[in-house]
Amino acid sequence: MPHQKRIAIIGAGPSGLAQLRAFQAAAEKGAAIPDIVCYEKQKDWGGMWNYTWRTGLDENGEQVHGSMYRYLWSNGPKECLEFADYSFDEHFKRPISSYPPREVLRDYIQGRVAKAGVRQYIRFNNAVKAVTFDEATRKFTVTAMDYSADTLTQEEYDHVIVATGHFSTPNMPEFPGFASFPGRILHAHDFRDAMEFKDKDVLLVGSSYSAEDIGSQCYKYGAESVTTCYRTKPMGYVWPENWEEKQQLVRVEGNLAHFKDGSTKRVDAIILCTGYRHDFPFLTDDLRLKTQNRLWPQDLYEGVAYTPNPQLFYLGMQDLWYSFNLFDAQAWLTRDMIMGRISLPDRTVMEALNQHWRDEELKIACDADAYEFQGAYIARLIAQSDYPSFDIEAVNKIFLQWKKDKKADIMGYRNKCYTSVLTGTTAVPHHTPWLWAMDDSQDAYLRPPTKPDTRRRERTTRALIPTKKLAASTTSKRLVRGG
Ligand SMILES: Cc1cc2nc3c(=O)[nH]c(=O)nc-3n(C[C@H](O)[C@H](O)[C@H](O)COP(=O)(O)OP(=O)(O)OC[C@H]3O[C@@H](n4cnc5c(N)ncnc54)[C@H](O)[C@@H]3O)c2cc1C
Repeated sequence: MPHQKRIAIIGAGPSGLAQLRAFQAAAEKGAAIPDIVCYEKQKDWGGMWNYTWRTGLDENGEQVHGSMYRYLWSNGPKECLEFADYSFDEHFKRPISSYPPREVLRDYIQGRVAKAGVRQYIRFNNAVKAVTFDEATRKFTVTAMDYSADTLTQEEYDHVIVATGHFSTPNMPEFPGFASFPGRILHAHDFRDAMEFKDKDVLLVGSSYSAEDIGSQCYKYGAESVTTCYRTKPMGYVWPENWEEKQQLVRVEGNLAHFKDGSTKRVDAIILCTGYRHDFPFLTDDLRLKTQNRLWPQDLYEGVAYTPNPQLFYLGMQDLWYSFNLFDAQAWLTRDMIMGRISLPDRTVMEALNQHWRDEELKIACDADAYEFQGAYIARLIAQSDYPSFDIEAVNKIFLQWKKDKKADIMGYRNKCYTSVLTGTTAVPHHTPWLWAMDDSQDAYLRPPTKPDTRRRERTTRALIPTKKLAASTTSKRLVRGG
């Protein structure tokens, strides 16, 4: 009998689940698939989309994985991330809006894998502690702590697929004066509930998605003022009047933040939106991917196979424009490489190709170049497997429209609707515009509002004023306080 390969998948977030679904899809078509174990340190699937109130260490003393916050809504159109084999229409049975809240997207992620019946492969509450590779046997040993059984396990595998994400280990700079700052200093990783910052003057260090979105959360839930500061360039949106963008923070003295242009601002709390590090504490140095958050990390052939040891794979390690459908394209390709349907070239060829794509990445000059580069990458992957193809050009156009809509109204872009490239269904506006929708639960999202929300009424006047006018409005500050 031929040897049945054993595969370890580390992580049951969207990437790890995509891998399980890819294998199950092959099994559904009659293929003999490897023996699979998926280790997941949390008690449930969904990865980053599995919200936790915890920060710091979890109930087992493991680093808390989650960086998502309570009132998070998708920051890109759902039409750009739709699974090509499981549409939003199939899951929700009716059109929904283009920017659903976290809980709704999590439900969608779960829907596909529940239908596929892959939960049986996952060992929950199992944290991988070490992965080593034996050159003689060409096998990996995975050591994991099974917290439910209070047992340390060790098992051998032919392949390991690392799907542990890269938004959990904060990049934490220090600025002079932090040690004596009288308020709270936290990283975006530990931000959970914007209500904590109601009536506070909040400083966000950074100018990327976290600063933009956590700042918007704080604004929405009634912060007294929001200040963001940038190192290279401002985000450049038309912000509400109590939101200011400043140059780089240089130091704090007591509550007073000093910026590079010499200006100051009194602040109550500082949130470091300074990014994350790719971190794999369970991997030996020879197996560990070392990269910044970028579109083409080195050492990954076709973005997945680790060139120094291509029995090891990484999923979802790229800077993300595309997300769920990118993980799918990678998972289907990885499956086919492992199952011998696609053969890997020599290491020199893989390295030359990696360098080629790195050179192409370095030519990227604007956002459109970036998502087109990633879209073309996905198309290349899909062409090699049986993952259903979809119109990537059309998705790129949605990204373009998304950028325009954000530029036009940073507090209102989430009310916009786009059309699915898979089903042709156009999204419908959510019953409550994003700025007024204080309850982000799936229940509230899916049912029409029954009772008038007083906070919503107080906010109505403000939200009806386009952000541009809002900035000029003298009454807006008072209305902001309404929530
Ligand atoms: C604040 C925030 C907002 C975001 N918003 C969006 C958005 O709007 N749209 C979008 O498309 N994407 C968004 N993302 C990106 C998001 O990370 C991806 O959508 C997606 O969750 C990545 O999937 P993943 O499976 O690669 O990683 P993750 O979702 O991070 O899952 C990794 C899994 O690995 C597990 N794990 C880690 N270490 C171990 C270990 N040692 N042993 C066992 N298991 C382990 C974790 O518990 C986790 O379940 C956001 C990310 C953040 C942080």
